Amino acid sequence: MARPTKQGVDYFPIWNPHFRVEEKFWGEGRRSYKALRNSSSSFIKKDDVRSSILKKCNYKCVFCGSKSKLQIDHIVSVYQAFKDKRYIGILNSYINLQVLCEKCNCGKTPENCK
Ligand SMILES: [Zn+2]
Repeated sequence: MARPTKQGVDYFPIWNPHFRVEEKFWGEGRRSYKALRNSSSSFIKKDDVRSSILKKCNYKCVFCGSKSKLQIDHIVSVYQAFKDKRYIGILNSYINLQVLCEKCNCGKTPENCK
């Protein structure tokens, strides 16, 4: 993978909400997990995040190569990052996002299949 530029790692922290409000997720408990999950799922819906990650993965699923029903996926999941706070800072970053098709994402985290 090419070294990330302005559109990659260096660029994300500028508007990544977690670089500013990170500390609010350090508490245990359901409410802060929900807040982290909500802000992470709205983060990956942003057009510029989506297009940047699609481009990084050549517009196809990294598992099976499918080009239909593509979704942006957190490699270290929101739940894992919530459990292990070392990952909070990279959760919504260029390196932690990948493209999966609906089927592969579904297999990875069954709650996405509903
Ligand atoms: Zn796939």
